[in-house]
Amino acid sequence: MPYGPQVLDSALDAVGNTPLIRLDRIAQEEGLRCNLLGKVEYTSTGGSVKDRIAKRMVEAAEREGKLIPGQSVVIEPTSGNTGIGLAMACAVKGYSVIITLPNKMSLEKEAALRALGAEVVRTPTEAAWDSPDSHIGVALKLQREIPGGIILDQYRNINNPLAHEYTTGPEIIEAITSTPSTSARPSSENVDVLVAGAGTGGTVTGLSRAIKKHNKDCVIVAVDPKGSILAVPEELNTEDAGAQYVVEGIGYDFVPDVLARAEVDTWLKTSDTESFEAVRKLMRREGLLVGGSSGSALSGALRWLKSDAGKKIAQTKGANVVVLLPDGIRNYMSKPWFLKMALEAEPSPLAHRIADILKIS
Ligand code: PMP
Repeated sequence: MPYGPQVLDSALDAVGNTPLIRLDRIAQEEGLRCNLLGKVEYTSTGGSVKDRIAKRMVEAAEREGKLIPGQSVVIEPTSGNTGIGLAMACAVKGYSVIITLPNKMSLEKEAALRALGAEVVRTPTEAAWDSPDSHIGVALKLQREIPGGIILDQYRNINNPLAHEYTTGPEIIEAITSTPSTSARPSSENVDVLVAGAGTGGTVTGLSRAIKKHNKDCVIVAVDPKGSILAVPEELNTEDAGAQYVVEGIGYDFVPDVLARAEVDTWLKTSDTESFEAVRKLMRREGLLVGGSSGSALSGALRWLKSDAGKKIAQTKGANVVVLLPDGIRNYMSKPWFLKMALEAEPSPLAHRIADILKIS
């Protein structure tokens, strides 16, 4: 349920209920006539789209009697955001947490996890998912040894896609249907295209289910980084097989059970470079401090809208194209790609003027 101005019981009551925001300046710059809309997930309490699944997986396990306060130890392999959501939920509810996190994931995520009271174990990024050294392998080993250890398992837990089918998707539909079409702001009052990145795939799978119930013709576009193997058809993955990518939270070397690849209409492969360029656009043009995978989703959306498949919708006034923006830049402040973007940009004419006035060379 959306929360209003009332006092909330805990941080968990402010999970989700995120805004859908027009990306008008980018749309105009790109020559689009459709509505380009960003679902901005960093306003959720823990800072990402994954708060929703953490809350739902914990509450479901509690209902099933699988979690006992003071005894259970929640262990989860994650790229960080599910961990932050779980650590937040467990701080409120009184469970211990251990997060296994591949080395490539940011220091900011580890710091947030530790600040919330979680133990963090780093694992080699290059370890295959089914190796004992991977974040999944280490979590399984800890679960076998630690009394009360339980893995809620976002890769297989149905509450992962359900969280998006029951919250993220309906919020998008509600925002669009409750904003009437006007001559100044035409709208089909439907979600016509949805673009989201895939990690576990829970987000895109749940969104596809929710949105297709409402508009069966909605085109679901998923983005997968070059070097990952989630995209369909498989040939899409062969060109850059094995390539490393810096963007966090999307892409895998196995297909998680919760990802229903057939429920996605089109897959696109994205590069780090185009992702980070799109992050910069979201910051500079729209004032949105999003993370790297938000850039992947936006760059995928813009590419699809320029393709033969997308150009008709791109030029249709009132068509609604929703881009899921999973987390915020808070998670990546110390990453070289961000520092370069923020601090090493070409000086603007205004910066030169300031330097002249202040006699700074
Ligand atoms: N972006 C970020 C930053 C994430 O942390 C995740 C979660 N792994 C995703 C995108 C992808 O979400 P999902 O796991 O639901 O596919």
